[in-house]
Amino acid sequence: ERVNVIPFFHHVLDRFEMNKDETVRIDRTIPKDSIFLWMDKDKIIQVIDNIMSNALKYSPPEGVIRFKVTKERNRIKVMIQDQGPGIPPDKLDKIFDRFYRADRARSRQLGGTGLGLAIAREIIQNHHGQIWADSEEGKGTKVFFTLPLIARKRGVS
Ligand code: ATP
Ligand code: MG
Repeated sequence: ERVNVIPFFHHVLDRFEMNKDETVRIDRTIPKDSIFLWMDKDKIIQVIDNIMSNALKYSPPEGVIRFKVTKERNRIKVMIQDQGPGIPPDKLDKIFDRFYRADRARSRQLGGTGLGLAIAREIIQNHHGQIWADSEEGKGTKVFFTLPLIARKRGVS
């Protein structure tokens, strides 16, 4: 379906603002002008949910989560940044594998199955986008995904 992602992203984040615990702040940088693209809305909501729930899970109290959308020549790029413990460089691409959990002790404590980012990657690939992470240990994590701007993609209604 053809979606203006500007109100869509605001709507998804509004829902997070209502449900999160009060101490973590969500800081949004989203362009003002409409940007239309083809997507399966429910699937992209799931991607954002999975990335944001990790960011919330790993954020320190009073932490800030940055949600930033930029329009590039033929795609949009979304960045979700937290101030959590970060991920060691050698584990950065493994976090998108099924059942992979970077820090076993901490992961066990915080719960989860290790599927969130694997599902997100599958959905983004189905939309012909890309997803990756960047992190400095001790300084937090950035997760990025892109979605192509115009062309209607096969398999997405
Ligand atoms: P699930 O999402 O199924 O509840 P999960 O959160 O452990 O479980 P993923 O979301 O796929 O699984 O994340 C995989 C692993 O990547 C996590 O267990 C964690 O070790 C690491 N990780 C993901 N996001 C972050 C983040 N924002 N900060 C630090 N580590 C992260
Ligand atoms: Mg998760």
